[in-house]
Amino acid sequence: MLRLHSELPTGASGAILIIPTYIPTLCTLLWCGCVLPFMNPPAKMVAVLGSTGSIGTSALEVIQASKGRLRAVALSAHSRLDQLLAQAEQFRPRWAIATDPVAAEAFDWSKLPEETELLVGPAALVEVVARDEVDLVLAAIVGRAGLESTWAALENKKTVALANKETLVVAGSLVTQLARDRGALLLPVDSEHSAIFQALQAGNPVEVERLVLTASGGPFRDFSPDQLKQVTVAEALDHPIWDMGPKITVDSATMMNKALEIIEARWLFGIGAEQIEVVIHPQSIVHSMVEFVDGSVVAQMSPPDMRLPIQYAFTYPERVAGVAERLDFGRAFSLEFEPADPERFPALELGFECAKAGGSAGAVLNAANEGAVEAFLAGELHFTEIVPACRSVLQSHCHEAEPTLDQLIEFDRWAREEILSWVCP
Ligand code: NAD
Ligand code: MG
Repeated sequence: MLRLHSELPTGASGAILIIPTYIPTLCTLLWCGCVLPFMNPPAKMVAVLGSTGSIGTSALEVIQASKGRLRAVALSAHSRLDQLLAQAEQFRPRWAIATDPVAAEAFDWSKLPEETELLVGPAALVEVVARDEVDLVLAAIVGRAGLESTWAALENKKTVALANKETLVVAGSLVTQLARDRGALLLPVDSEHSAIFQALQAGNPVEVERLVLTASGGPFRDFSPDQLKQVTVAEALDHPIWDMGPKITVDSATMMNKALEIIEARWLFGIGAEQIEVVIHPQSIVHSMVEFVDGSVVAQMSPPDMRLPIQYAFTYPERVAGVAERLDFGRAFSLEFEPADPERFPALELGFECAKAGGSAGAVLNAANEGAVEAFLAGELHFTEIVPACRSVLQSHCHEAEPTLDQLIEFDRWAREEILSWVCP
């Protein structure tokens, strides 16, 4: 054991320590050399926004398996409050946020752990992400509802692990500018963008020729136009590979998800729409690729399991062993790629158009799509009408090249109203 030798000045009551000057240096060296290697770094405190969703629950599995490296400091849910309560009992966060005040009012919170403070309403998301106790925010709320909390997190220089692609579709230019201005890290969780982010590390930005987004093609890849007209809600919600929330599952069936991802990639990687390509890859093992100027294509592969991109965003720049499934090369499997036919997948064209146009286009497309998907799920719009309805709203909007955030929110409100003219109650 290390002892400090001290001399007490005569007649003093022991208040002053006189320590030979080399001792502190010696202590520091011993501390760094002997003690630090055996100490765990402090846990990264993660605010999991949208913790009851498909991404949110996968994120909690990653946190659970992190051996204390990660801690859930905040959890949020909109309406599945019994699930939020169960998560709070398991993870004991500092805050549990119920964003729907009506549902929160009616719920029995008596079993909420004592150390967890209940906050109600969407403003609580903005408040919590700004707190000093939060290191990283997982933006896993679905739709445009995720915008304000992501914005507040970046404004407060928090690292954001972004699953909520709609934030970049609505306000990509402003959000990425904010991240740059604040020096905040914006890390992709979407599997395609995580793959591109990883592949980009193989070269310099000026050496990038194009980004190739892979798409599974969804459940109706081989359907005829007549078959598509008969698609039911249950069929659209049955994705062959990914188990996701209802909105993104319908987006994957219409290929609007890929359209949104084209726009997401345009802003996240600061690349022109003409340098983005989409290729159909039914196995969803190659999550996306970067082609460099010399013709090299760098891809990222893994079984389809969202826990891997979530974990990579949580631990970046480190990689750690985790819970995600691994590829088994002891078993034969094949990878197929085919060009994405724009006639078969008309949503893709909308994605490229909006990525090219910038300004208000993304906000209008996103809101129209959110409204159309909601109407489809309620049985008020046919599956095959979703994309034409979005195109029509996009075409009838008065494009603004450099909108403010408030203007984008107004475009969002306007497009949601416009889409109603397509809906038959
Ligand atoms: P989900 O529907 O399963 O979960 C959504 C979460 O958001 C829930 O916790 C819900 O309570 C909360 N929420 C819903 N409406 C809200 C509102 N108005 N205010 C606050 N919170 C609200 O969705 P998901 O599949 O987990 O997707 C979440 C986001 O991640 C989406 O933006 C999606 O595009 C993106 N994403 C998902 C996947 C996936 O595999 N699920 C993959 C890539 C990207
Ligand atoms: Mg994706």
